Amino acid sequence: MATGQLIRGWLGLGGAPVFLYHGLTLLLAPECPVRERKYWVSAAKFRDHLACISRESHQAVLLHELWDSTDGSKRQKLAIALTFDDGNSSDYEITFPLLLEAGLQAEFFVNTATVGRKGFLSWQQIGVMQRSGMSFQSHSHDHVYLSRLPSRETERQLRLSKQILEARLGREVEFVAAPYGDLSADVIKVAMQVGYRAVCTSWSWPARPGAQLVNRAVVYSKTSARAYEGLLAGRLASYALCAARLVVMFLPKRMLLRFLRPHAVAPVQEDLS
Ligand SMILES: [Zn+2]
Repeated sequence: MATGQLIRGWLGLGGAPVFLYHGLTLLLAPECPVRERKYWVSAAKFRDHLACISRESHQAVLLHELWDSTDGSKRQKLAIALTFDDGNSSDYEITFPLLLEAGLQAEFFVNTATVGRKGFLSWQQIGVMQRSGMSFQSHSHDHVYLSRLPSRETERQLRLSKQILEARLGREVEFVAAPYGDLSADVIKVAMQVGYRAVCTSWSWPARPGAQLVNRAVVYSKTSARAYEGLLAGRLASYALCAARLVVMFLPKRMLLRFLRPHAVAPVQEDLS
């Protein structure tokens, strides 16, 4: 094996890119608080991402397909996954038509408490998208900091959203994405006990199919075409930059929250993921 390949394997870069989006927008300045704008990617950029995926001969698959084939030799070559958090109405209005146009599928993580509210997906829209091949997973019931809740409440959040989604969708819900990317050993343990197969993170690194955690590369409004191509190709520089950005943006805020907000039920989309 070439040295380069060995190093890539050691760094975990040989995994599959799983992209994390939040909402798509047709506007230059999306109608949301300024601090959230960095998570809203323009529809034109997303169309470019889809074109790039196709040009580089990658195949967008659903997470369960990636996780079903943990044997690298059998795994679909160049498989990637597209995920969207928060269940914004743009999932239906903008993302869904673009995915249909490109003939691709994506995974949508929704908060069961916000489905049907203004600005979010409705059950009717979810039904239409599911019948067209899109997949829905849990983003917890409310959009809360799970690691700051008592275990019993964390369990209620994860169990309730799973139960509601499964009853509505008529199929098993296997993955959960923690709101704000807020995870702890206890949250992961509870998620496993409740019956999830894996927990999605916002840690920008390639995902290792079959693992308990699903690393996802966060896509920002300012993610350049070159950076996106680098993430798709599993380039170290691209992932290192993405991870560094996350650390700079996210960790100081998290540390502050530990001191300032011991009880962490927060409004949707206040922060990352
Ligand atoms: Zn979220």
